[in-house]
Amino acid sequence: MPEKVIIIGSGPAAWTAAIYTARAELKPLVFEGAVTEENRLTGTLPLGQLALTTEVENYPGFPAGNLEAYLDDAIARDKRQFMAPHSKEGVSGPELMELIRQQAVNFGTRVVTHDVVQLDFDARPFKLTASDGKTYEALAVIVATGARANYLGLPSEAEYKNRGVSACAVCDGALPRFRNQPLVVVGGGDAAVEEADYLTKFAGKVYLVHRRDELRASKIMARRAIDNPKIEIQWNRTLDEVLGNDADGVTGVRLKSTVGEPDLVLDASGVFLSIGHTPNTAFLEGKLELTEKKYVKWTTPWRTYTSVEGVFAAGDVADDYFRQAVTAAGTGCMAALDAERWLAARE
Ligand SMILES: Cc1cc2nc3c(=O)[nH]c(=O)nc-3n(C[C@H](O)[C@H](O)[C@H](O)COP(=O)(O)OP(=O)(O)OC[C@H]3O[C@@H](n4cnc5c(N)ncnc54)[C@H](O)[C@@H]3O)c2cc1C
Repeated sequence: MPEKVIIIGSGPAAWTAAIYTARAELKPLVFEGAVTEENRLTGTLPLGQLALTTEVENYPGFPAGNLEAYLDDAIARDKRQFMAPHSKEGVSGPELMELIRQQAVNFGTRVVTHDVVQLDFDARPFKLTASDGKTYEALAVIVATGARANYLGLPSEAEYKNRGVSACAVCDGALPRFRNQPLVVVGGGDAAVEEADYLTKFAGKVYLVHRRDELRASKIMARRAIDNPKIEIQWNRTLDEVLGNDADGVTGVRLKSTVGEPDLVLDASGVFLSIGHTPNTAFLEGKLELTEKKYVKWTTPWRTYTSVEGVFAAGDVADDYFRQAVTAAGTGCMAALDAERWLAARE
């Protein structure tokens, strides 16, 4: 018998879709991704992007407060024992993701810890092949494989991730460590300008580091950066090293010149990379319609339909604009309801 619904992915979108489809008695099967060195290096291990961060202060339902006893009670012991000790007030990314996953499992979601590597959407039921070589069949599929933030790949950048280096200004900009401090944003597109502008609400000053002498951002956005007295654009510069120490995390940056000027060292307590995201859609090439930037294309406004009837998409894999845990969870709910109604209409 084919599965009624298979969900591919492991972030807030996938687990929310699982909660909804499980409660609708569709007995979802979730492919949460494989635990491999390759997935570790690309940042696509099970539990998704949120598991790569520390505090999550903007997901509703988690005001500051000590969650330790609740985490011990809510999360299965075999999972809890491998989690980092709860050390902060409020919720951390890994804690939140374990809670959402557990909620899906509590309603009967079955989980396979492998990647989906191949798909046949021409066949009905759909055929999916996992990284262990097994094949599965499904009447409906929800793709929620997310995206990953691009980093420059500097060793110092990796060393200070979550200790001042971030790839999400909206997520991390309001953290106390960045308040009234000088910050650095790397990038030159609309997103970089928007992030720099956003960070000026909290920062003392924002350096926008761009490798050319003109921003890639649209004229109106570029003007916003140039006119903002708190933003100083460092033209013709690239980030060469994040400076810091164990006690303070990031303390500054060393910038290289692209036009032969000497290196420049700036004090900064935070470095925000804004050099784009890569959606996890390589395995979908030629199977589903993708956008120019390789995101899954939603084909109907306010629905999670894709170019293949019976295949739905949720979360950052189809959203290159909002990119938040709560919006991913929201579209995960939408995909579950879309799939449930599509299946019901065919019975
Ligand atoms: C450093 C950082 C900090 C952030 N902080 C916040 C924050 O504070 N608040 C906030 O709202 N948002 C935050 N975000 C953004 C948020 O994490 C994302 O918007 C959200 O996680 C997107 O969820 P998603 O469900 O689309 O999938 P993702 O979280 O991207 O997860 C998708 C997962 O699916 C799995 N997968 C991928 N391909 C396959 C495959 N072929 N087969 C099986 N499984 C697969 C992988 O495990 C992958 O990790 C942050 C992001 C980053 C990078």
